[in-house]
This record gives sequence, C-alpha cells and structure tokens, in this order.
Amino acid sequence: MASFTLHGIPVSRGIAIGRAHLLAPAALDVRHYLIADEQVEAEVERLQQAIETVHRELQTIWRELPKDAPAELGAFIDVHALILSDPMIAEMPLDIIRTRYYNAEWALVTQIDELSAQFDEVEDAYLRERKADIQQVGERVLKVLTGTAALPEPDGGDDAAARMIVVAHDISPADMLRFKERAFGGFVTDLGGQNSHTAIVARSLDIPAVVGMYKASALIEQDDWLIIDGDAGVLIVDPSPKVMEQYRERHARLMRERKKLSRLKKMPAVTRDGTEIALLANIELPDDCPAAMEAGASGVGLFRSEYLFMGRTGSLSKLPSEDEQFESYRKAVLAMKGRPVTIRTLDIGADKPLDVAEQTALNPALGLRAIRFCLAEPQMFLEQLRAILRASAYGPVKLLVPMLAHGFEIDQTLAMIEQAKTQLRDAHVKFDPLVPVGAMIEIPAAALTLPLFIKRMDFLSIGTNDLIQYTLAIDRADHEVAHLYNPLHPAVLYLLSTTISIGAKYGVPVSVCGEMAGDTKLTRLLLGMGLREFSMHPAQLLSVKQEILNSDLDAIVPQTKKILRTLEHLAIAEAVERLRAM
Ligand code: PEP
Ligand code: MG
Repeated sequence: MASFTLHGIPVSRGIAIGRAHLLAPAALDVRHYLIADEQVEAEVERLQQAIETVHRELQTIWRELPKDAPAELGAFIDVHALILSDPMIAEMPLDIIRTRYYNAEWALVTQIDELSAQFDEVEDAYLRERKADIQQVGERVLKVLTGTAALPEPDGGDDAAARMIVVAHDISPADMLRFKERAFGGFVTDLGGQNSHTAIVARSLDIPAVVGMYKASALIEQDDWLIIDGDAGVLIVDPSPKVMEQYRERHARLMRERKKLSRLKKMPAVTRDGTEIALLANIELPDDCPAAMEAGASGVGLFRSEYLFMGRTGSLSKLPSEDEQFESYRKAVLAMKGRPVTIRTLDIGADKPLDVAEQTALNPALGLRAIRFCLAEPQMFLEQLRAILRASAYGPVKLLVPMLAHGFEIDQTLAMIEQAKTQLRDAHVKFDPLVPVGAMIEIPAAALTLPLFIKRMDFLSIGTNDLIQYTLAIDRADHEVAHLYNPLHPAVLYLLSTTISIGAKYGVPVSVCGEMAGDTKLTRLLLGMGLREFSMHPAQLLSVKQEILNSDLDAIVPQTKKILRTLEHLAIAEAVERLRAM
C-alpha cells in the first residue's frame, strides 16, 4: 500500500513507531487471548450458553410486549431470534474457537466483523441494513459473556506492546484509563478534542496521541505500520524506509533530551530572580503517585477521584464503598510521604459519564454534573466526604470541590462536610478537623464573583479546561469546534489573571490544575500573571520546571501586563511567543 498522511489534533507529545491495533467498536468490549487445547470445549460451551441465554431473553421480551406495541417490534425480535439461530452465528464462532483457539468473545467478534464486511458488499440496501441487526445480536451475546467491558491484552512482552498503536473511532476516558495497566506505543482516534478527558488521560500516560482524525479508523488496516508525530498531530501510514529512518533519529533525539531533563528532578523550581514556584501533580489513581514522586512533585494538586467511580456499570450500589474509597485515598496519602494530597470530590458527567447518571441530559456539559450531582445524591456524597476525611488522619489532605457557581452551593457543600465530620466524631473515627477546603474556579460565573469564594474557601484551583469550555461555549470534547478552543482568548486570560490577582490580594492561595499549567508554551504567561502554584501530569513537570528555571519575573511581568491589555488574537499569540523567547 502507498504511504499516506493524516492530520488531527495533537494531544500527547512524542513520537511512536509501531503497528496498528484496530479497535472496532464492538471489539472494544472484548478481551483477546488464546486458550489452551484442554480449554476448548469449556470455551465452546460458554459461548453456547451465552447464545442460549440471549434466546431466552428474546423470548421474554416477546412475551412481555404490550398488546398495543407496533407490529414491527415483534417482527424485529423475530429477526434477531432468526439471526441467533443461524449457523453463521450459532456455529461458525464455535469452529473459530476449535480451530484458532480464540477465546469466546474474540471468536464471536471475529465472525461478526466477517459477516459485517460481507454485508457491506451487498447491493441491496434493505439487506445491507441487516448488518446492524447482526451487530446488535452479537452485542447482546457479548454482554452476557463479558458482563463488563474489557480491553485487548498486548500480544507478547512489553517490547511488542510498546510497538502496538491503538487505532479507534473513539475511546472513553474509563477505557483509556484501563490502558494504564498495559503499555501501548500510542493512540489515534477519529473523535475527540484537545482537552477531552480521553486526551488528558493519554497525556498522563505520556504516550504520543493524536485525536480528531475523522476517518483514521476506517482508512487504517490491522497491522499497518504507523508513525505518530504527537507534537505535530500527524499520523503517517505505511511510511517509506527513508521517512521511517528520519523519525527513528528524531525519536532517539527526543529520548536523549528527556534523559537530560531528569537531572532537574531534585532541583527546586525557582525563577532566576529567586521566586519559588510549587509544582504539583495531577493524578487519576493512587497508583500514579510513584510517578509524581519520581518527577519531584511537591504534592498532588488534583486527584480526579471520579476515576475510582467510572466504568462500573449498574446502579449506585455498584459504586466504590466508603471503605474502598478510603483505602484508595489513604494509599495516595501514604505514597506521597507527607506531601499534601488534594482530593477532588466526584466530578462526574459530561464526557465522564457514570452509568447511573448517564447521558439522559439534553446537554450533559451543562447538566447535573460534578457538585450538582453530589448535592443531589447526599448519601453518596457523605460517603465520599467521610472517606476523604478519614484519609486525612494519615497525612496532609486538602478537599477540592468542582463546578461551584452559587453561594448557596458552597454553603450546602460546607454543611455536608460538617455533617460528615460530626458523623465521624460520633463514631470515634480519627480525621484532621482542619482539612483545608477549596473550590475549583472553572465556571465563568465563579471567576466573576470571586468574593463569594474568597470569603468561604481556604484555597482556589483554576480548572482552565472547563473555564475555556464554558467561557467560549466550545465543547472541549468535540473535534468539530476544536479549532475554536483557545486558551489565549482575551476573555479567558481576563478571568484567569483576575482570579490569580484577587486571590493574591486577599491571601487565598490560587493554583491552576487545568491543562494550561502543564503547557510549557504558557508557563511564562502564567508566571507573569502572578501564578505560583502549577498542577499537571507528572510527565510534564520537568519541562515546566526547566522553563521556570530560565524565567526572569522582572522581564516577564511588564510584558504580561501588555498581553492582558491586548484583544487581537494574532497580536496575543505573537506576544506570548516572544515571551517564550525572552
Ligand atoms: C479543569 O476543568 O480544568 C480540570 C482540571 O478538571 P477536569 O479536566 O477534570 O474537568
Ligand atoms: Mg473541570
């Protein structure tokens, strides 16, 4: 095949060279592994039983159809039952298990993909549409087989895995997180924006990734050779040997530069004029703490606790219990060895759906998300607050609340925290009664009514990802409007700089924990605004530190003031570029 290049939105830097591992939408939900000879019949039976269960499910649906249900509905169920009985589905996958030793899920998906491809070739539009029925039947059986979604294992040792590049139409943040346990070389998706949560997790893995590629997953074939240029947002498919060689050299150079950076680990982050800057880590799970310590973070500035809650299908009762949460929070606190851990309360919704709260909202980003959801589920919220408070007996903990906008929401939240404390006292459970409580400033209304927050909160943390989304009315996960998602829009800069300066005026510490904090192109601008606390993925920390070590506030501050008075987009971009070059 001839080489070709695709362009997308760069979300995680670096270069990855490897072979494509395509995740079909259905394949996302299945594990791929080879079974041993003696497991074959058990695996065949597992699949037969799953098919049997779906038969019974369909019969039940049929029986329970309301009398006035449209006739097509019954016909539709009949079609599904027929498909399920067809040897194509009822027998072929069993042969795949017996001959290729695939696990049941993999065998089924292989057969469904095969049939789907055959249907694509059919001229007749009606028949072509039956492809969807086959896929739906397949998904029903898969659901019975798997219960929950699982991702493919990298085939082979670490080395082989590192060379596998995942290509998918879309990957949910929860699935992306599960890639953490497996080493892949890079990620490419058709959908997604710069600061979607999927992109953020890819960045935290420090693996090159490009999103918003439109049709990449349709154009790339399994096992194609790929090069991801994560800095440029470019994907090269089937590169020529010459291009391959150039990228191998660039990759080696990048690795050497990173190694050099590691010398900065133990150095304090101080500007040339002697101003100390705190660099903290953003984490998704307690297991990220060693990387934060390794990068020399002075604490955790954002523990996105929702990742403990995501990917658990079912009802509220399936969510992590107070004890399970407590164990996770304590694990993070102990791993940080006396450095503060800022635990953010559940920030669920929008592109981080929890199954139970799921996508029924007309506009999820503006819906019942984050603190709004917590205040609507007080028992669940109290459990989380108790778990966080209990962890504070083991080391310094700060409590951070997302998406606050109204004074009464702050009051209700603080009242709930007091209630959780009273419950713990009554039960004679230890906790730190002085745990600082802070608010995320990520809704423009919050940034414009800061005195409400200053009066009630111990610290503030600016969530630039959402602040940009809500200020500019740009869905952060939508690639169609990704070009309009601009951290340097003067309205964003105004809200950021006023929050930082008002915080400083009233002695309330302000940090930035959105993605802007980890972007070296913006480090000096933020320093110039007066920011002294940055929280980012551990992988970004040393590059930001290097930028700080080379910065001189005396020179930066006057230039930043000028930028804050500028309105024209290009003039701002050029001035920020000059600031970097100073
Ligand atoms: C933010 O909005 O900037 C933030 C840090 O939180 P999240 O990305 O999890 O919404
Ligand atoms: Mg946010």
